[in-house]
Amino acid sequence: MGCNCGKKKKQQQLKKFKEEKEKKLSIRKSWVDLRKEVSRNLTLVQSFGLSMASRGIRNKKIDGPVKQLRVLSCFGNQGVGGELIPCEGLKESKTEGRHFCGLCGCGDRSGTHLISNGEKYSKLDYPVLSCPLQMPGFSNYEPSDEEDRLPPMSRKAYIDNRLTPQDIQKIEVSVPEKDEKLKKEIEEHIKD
Ligand code: SF4
Repeated sequence: MGCNCGKKKKQQQLKKFKEEKEKKLSIRKSWVDLRKEVSRNLTLVQSFGLSMASRGIRNKKIDGPVKQLRVLSCFGNQGVGGELIPCEGLKESKTEGRHFCGLCGCGDRSGTHLISNGEKYSKLDYPVLSCPLQMPGFSNYEPSDEEDRLPPMSRKAYIDNRLTPQDIQKIEVSVPEKDEKLKKEIEEHIKD
């Protein structure tokens, strides 16, 4: 009987090739969607948020503006003199000074803490991250629509329509280096 090694190797290569192709297609699709969105009358923050969301898919590390948008989405900007209240999903952790998302269903543990500014790598630093409300800065961001703008204006519409790049720049953030232990903890609850 002949050896099957060659056949198996070919099948594995074919599988890998198909996976790579699907990945490239999905990235291209995001950019096509982005161009379509930009051609509709989007605000600066909406175009920026969509572009950031696409970049998150490709980048291994987020950058300052992505984190600033995420922090605004979760914590609001009252801490820097603004009027945007924190998200209704934001919960105080039992660990002093920490918060977590109460809408994710991921609970309160080190891998779920949302930290805006500090040395510790946190969930908000994780590159591809979804928000249950699809808020700006997150990978599944969906721009607000007309209904969101009706009074009382939603927090998402407020960020999309009222905030200027200067307002976003006022949000102080740090982007700590990846911490493998915390990254694993974050991934565990993302898979839940
Ligand atoms: S719902 Fe989204 S914006 Fe609100 S706390 Fe959770 S992750 Fe942050």
